[in-house]
Amino acid sequence: MSINTLISRLFRSFNRRLLGFEESSAGIRLPAPEADRLYLLYLHVPYCVVLCPFCSFHRVEFERSKTERYFACLRSEIQLMTDAGFNFDELYVGGGTPTVLPEELLSTIKLAQDQHPITGVSVETNPDHLRRDNLLRLHDAGVTRLSVGVQSFDDRLLKEMRRFDEYGSSIEIKRRLRRMQGIFETFNVDMIFNFPHQTESSLHRDLDVLIEEIGVDQVSFYPLMTAGATRKKMFQTMGSVDYSREQSFYRIIAERMLSAGYTRTSSWCFSRRPGMFDEYIAGREEYVGLGSGSFSYLQGSLFASTFSINDYLRLVGDGLTGTARRREMTPRNQMRYYLLMQLFSGALDKEAAETRFNGRFQRKMWPELAALRAAGAIHSSANTITLTESGYYLWVLLMREFFTGVNNLRDQMRQHQVVR
Ligand code: SF4
Repeated sequence: MSINTLISRLFRSFNRRLLGFEESSAGIRLPAPEADRLYLLYLHVPYCVVLCPFCSFHRVEFERSKTERYFACLRSEIQLMTDAGFNFDELYVGGGTPTVLPEELLSTIKLAQDQHPITGVSVETNPDHLRRDNLLRLHDAGVTRLSVGVQSFDDRLLKEMRRFDEYGSSIEIKRRLRRMQGIFETFNVDMIFNFPHQTESSLHRDLDVLIEEIGVDQVSFYPLMTAGATRKKMFQTMGSVDYSREQSFYRIIAERMLSAGYTRTSSWCFSRRPGMFDEYIAGREEYVGLGSGSFSYLQGSLFASTFSINDYLRLVGDGLTGTARRREMTPRNQMRYYLLMQLFSGALDKEAAETRFNGRFQRKMWPELAALRAAGAIHSSANTITLTESGYYLWVLLMREFFTGVNNLRDQMRQHQVVR
């Protein structure tokens, strides 16, 4: 067994402990905010016009009247957080497809901006929503980062993903992406690697488009992740995943992106300049997530909102938040979580870690740090711990495990619920 596999297995058991949420009564309160602290706010909009077979995110089919009610609930939750004393300075709206009802999205962003000193707003969308008028309205509403889910420019793969008819051919997607240039501070494209029928030459063609043809500001290149509930459907429509190719695909991506002048802002995100990036959980230790299926991390506890849209609408309609579960972490697991998230962005500041954990971080984390050093995954200097090249790929594995754990948790919670 390779040391990477061993570390991944150990991590999987940590993951199970981390995500083993206790049953709680729905509508539980988040802890009060710390005075003068600024938090990141994440809003989840789960609606999509088409449900892609590989996707394990929390998403449901779009239905206009329910989506309108859902956005109204998001605004009620923002108001509850404001009344509780939270102050937010960054806003991420993810999904699903948050732009599915632009008017609702814009008034939700505006409410958050009116009540909080928000300096950056990131919104996810799909290629069919890249109309020039939509883009300008989002920009004028203060959106600084627009992230477009493309996944691949290979028409065969787009057809297998059932995205070709809804979101367009690769030629059409490229034409739409060019309209985005110069509008937002950061223009991100989400891609996926290691699809069952993806080849190295198909991946190289995707990289040619991103780097040479379009010249995007930022690319988030996710490894294909499948949770239990989507694995069968994905296998039927797209084939089975071969994880043995994942590392060589990742190497191609990293080499091409880095040699084109991009820097790695997380293990799988490459940027031309500083700015917001998808994995806000790596950049900000504490955050508040609102909306069905969102997570919050506050004062050493992880909170999950209900995955049932009906329960969510009912809870918020009753004046509560959608938060339904809480997982309190031991101090040691808080340190492991901190290590995982900090190194996801490539580096951990030792002094900041010691300050955060009252001088106990390196003393308590020595077994984890020793294992990572033995695996050749980290370098340690006087002030910082950084990932090595092989460490970056190990972090792709660990974060894939983490998100697969999150997706499996969603599946388990859905089994007890009617999701729509
Ligand atoms: S990949 Fe994007 S568009 Fe497709 S189902 Fe998932 S969230 Fe919706």
